[in-house]
Amino acid sequence: MRIVFIGPPGAGKGTQAEKIIAKYKPAHLSTGDMLRAARDAKTEIGLEADKYMSSGQLVPDDVVIGVIADRLKKDDCKAGYLLDGFPRTIAQAEALDKMLAEAGTPLDVVLELKVPDEELYTRLSKRGRADDTPETIKERIAVYNNQTSPLLDYYGKKGLLKTIEGLGTVEEIFARIEKVLDAPQGGCGCRCTS
Ligand code: ADP
Repeated sequence: MRIVFIGPPGAGKGTQAEKIIAKYKPAHLSTGDMLRAARDAKTEIGLEADKYMSSGQLVPDDVVIGVIADRLKKDDCKAGYLLDGFPRTIAQAEALDKMLAEAGTPLDVVLELKVPDEELYTRLSKRGRADDTPETIKERIAVYNNQTSPLLDYYGKKGLLKTIEGLGTVEEIFARIEKVLDAPQGGCGCRCTS
């Protein structure tokens, strides 16, 4: 299955992504992880990306699109993948559509993990990753609302969007995801999770 996983910072996307990988075994394509690895390895892309990541801004589209285009060509993507943190802008979504259309491998489903902003602030303040300062948290949530949330409409119109309520226990939330992923493909196409 080819899945896109969208959610604001702090929504618990990483935790649920791990559970999806463990059960359904898609390749895990996290642009955040890839960019952090590039930064730590001090590659040219990594050093360029770090300028944006450290302030909560998005890395430029062409950089991230290049990283994903290379990754999608690897063999382990043939059996399906979970795109985690990509696309994050309409330009990225359009570039992805183009790549997948050329390869004849359309997306199966787009999962949105939905959590109210107030809860995100609470969770992120407790997490303590290097880019989790109060200023960058605020910036990353604003960037999500301005640049990434338009994707919900974009994929909604294509009939691919399934919204998962992100409040509850880890197990409760995963059960909601399983319900969507276990449903026959091409369901009702609306925003419900039935
Ligand atoms: P989050 O905690 O916000 O979910 P991620 O681990 O997905 O963060 O990404 C961390 C940072 O990496 C982002 O704040 C951004 O700077 C950069 N990044 C990751 N994916 C993308 C992308 N698709 N487009 C642009 N920048 C990205």
